[in-house]
Amino acid sequence: MQTYKMLIDGQWVDAALGETFETRNPYTGDVWAAIPKGTKEDAERAVEAAHKAFTGGPWPKLTASDRGHLLRRLGDLIAENAERLARIEVTDNGKLINEMLFQLKYIPQWYYYFGGLADKIEGAVIPIDKPETFNYTRNEPLGVCVGITPWNSPLLLLSYKLAPALAAGNTFVAKPSEFTSASTLEFAKLVEQAGFPPGVFNVVTGFGADVGETLTTHKHVAKIAFTGSEGTGRKIGELAARNFKKVTLELGGKSPHIVFADAEIDNAVNGVISGIFAATGQTCIAGSRLLVESKIHDQVLEKVIALAKTARMGDPLSTSTQVGPVTTPPQLEKILSYIDIAKGEGAECLLGGARPSNPELGNGWFVEPTIFAGVRNSMRIAQEEVFGPVLAVIPFDTEEEAIQIANDTNYGLAAGFWTQDMRRMLRVSAAVQAGTVWVNTYRTISYMSPLGGYKHSGIGRENGMASIQNYLQTKSVMVSTAESVANPFIMR
Ligand code: NAD
Repeated sequence: MQTYKMLIDGQWVDAALGETFETRNPYTGDVWAAIPKGTKEDAERAVEAAHKAFTGGPWPKLTASDRGHLLRRLGDLIAENAERLARIEVTDNGKLINEMLFQLKYIPQWYYYFGGLADKIEGAVIPIDKPETFNYTRNEPLGVCVGITPWNSPLLLLSYKLAPALAAGNTFVAKPSEFTSASTLEFAKLVEQAGFPPGVFNVVTGFGADVGETLTTHKHVAKIAFTGSEGTGRKIGELAARNFKKVTLELGGKSPHIVFADAEIDNAVNGVISGIFAATGQTCIAGSRLLVESKIHDQVLEKVIALAKTARMGDPLSTSTQVGPVTTPPQLEKILSYIDIAKGEGAECLLGGARPSNPELGNGWFVEPTIFAGVRNSMRIAQEEVFGPVLAVIPFDTEEEAIQIANDTNYGLAAGFWTQDMRRMLRVSAAVQAGTVWVNTYRTISYMSPLGGYKHSGIGRENGMASIQNYLQTKSVMVSTAESVANPFIMR
């Protein structure tokens, strides 16, 4: 049993009231760590520490190149600790060690990339239309930025926010999910080791209603970067708007995965499986609606079912496991209730549809890979995010119909489609309403490539060069070179 502390103002501290909450291993169901149950008071202290570090002390005096150097050092430390951090994440969220090792070995790139960008944040000289006036712009940091993250990929989603925020010269308060706080607290030790001054990076653990809302409404917070559910995103967006705080919101999805009759079928089938069953369907970009052209519908379905049947469920720490447990008990209940909803709506359950009976899986929170055919896009199983290993299969006849069904959703985070027709690739990728479109691939991400949602899937984009603008504001400076001031009663 491990006991953690939070990092506030460079100090490792317990929660103000001394309380903790338990974090459990989704594979064994066992409690494995105690996490400080932060309060409103802890959240306020963290913001004040970040505000102090932004307005005084060594951080604002560092050059942009110094900040870049610190970020690159942090990247090196993450690389050195990738295996250890990946195992902690697996113990906390039950995702596969193969997936979390991939993520942890990749995360340093965020710190190298944005570290490299730190000293390329430039202003401009404006060739202004005013005589005897010199006008230039400065791109300045915002101040205290807050990062609120969900449980599915804690450190990857934190890095989308933290790397550009620090590169731009802001300070930061992180609030990880109450289900997966341990890896962020371990990560904080590396931030300290890299040499960031006290208060530049703080972590407050706890629950959304007290810690999360305090961070969202505190007067010294300039920006909130949030990844999580649509409902929480709406609440944060509303609270932030009241005080004109900047936000980026990365929310849910119900992504269409389209297979056209001219696709390379076996590749498409592999893509479909990785889109919904990898990570046990617990990804915002899950390809949870499979749209298949009618003439290949039965063939594709047969192959998808055959491959899904071979998926090995088991210990997520074992490299041979292909489908791990669900991360949290409420999520398990939610998935099972959506399976009931789909059955009640008349969808035909062709695979899975229950918790596995295999005794080897012990107390783990598993759900069998589940496939529903005969789904209409108006059904709840096709419209609402399940966030689990549940695939809804919908047939279509024409390209126009596929696009119409794909776009008939409140969400717009991602979409994938499989075809060998070059003209169709360009037509469909333009027509689909989604922040990311994959053609003949699925679930490819990069620190260089923008990620974010259309419609209810969010506001703003993370990753890519432009995302550093989320953490900057522009100041225009005008300097008169005139010897005397002209008529004071009119605008110049
Ligand atoms: P969630 O919204 O329940 O929680 C996310 C975070 O918000 C947690 O840290 C939680 O404590 C905090 N929170 C809860 N209530 C709050 C409040 N009132 N004020 C401030 N903070 C509050 O989401 P979850 O269940 O942890 O994660 C799953 C969701 O995340 C899914 O909907 C998924 O699609 C989404 N997600 C989106 C992306 C993306 O990039 N778009 C990536 C991963 C996950």
